[in-house]
Amino acid sequence: MGVPRFWREIPVRYRMIGSRCKLCKTTYYPPRIVCPKCKEARYEGDPVMEAEQFSGKGFVRSYTAIHVGPPGFQDQTPYTMAIIKMDEGPRITGQIIDCDPKQIEIGMPVEAVLRRIRQDGDTGVIYYGYKFRPDTNSKKKEKKK
Ligand SMILES: [Zn+2]
Repeated sequence: MGVPRFWREIPVRYRMIGSRCKLCKTTYYPPRIVCPKCKEARYEGDPVMEAEQFSGKGFVRSYTAIHVGPPGFQDQTPYTMAIIKMDEGPRITGQIIDCDPKQIEIGMPVEAVLRRIRQDGDTGVIYYGYKFRPDTNSKKKEKKK
C-alpha cells in the first residue's frame, strides 16, 4: 500500500469508524459504500450507509500462530493472528499482542489498540493500525461454535 492511500484511510484506521446499513442494520468494518446484503448504495436518495463509531471491543472467534511472516513482518514472528468478532457485529482479522500466546483462547475479550503494523524497509515509513490486546475489564464471553 502506498503512502497517499494510507493517509486517506486514517480516519478509518485511527478512530475505527465503520459503517451501518440503514436498511438491514448490518455493520461493516472497514466501512463500505454498497451494502453487500442489500446490494444498494442509496435509499430514498441518501447513501444507504451511515458512519458508525466502533467501541474497539470484541472477542476472539478463532486464532492461529504465525511462524513465518510476510515481508515487513518477519521481525514480529512468532505472533498470533485472530478473527475478532466486534461488539458491533463485524469480524476483523487482527494480531493479538500484550499477552502470552498460551493465554489466547476462543472467547477471550479483547480491545483494539493503535500500534505499529510494519516498517517499510526501503523508505523507513512506519505504518500504524489496529491490533488487539486482552480486555481485562471485560468478562469472558460465552464460547460460541
Ligand atoms: Zn443492508
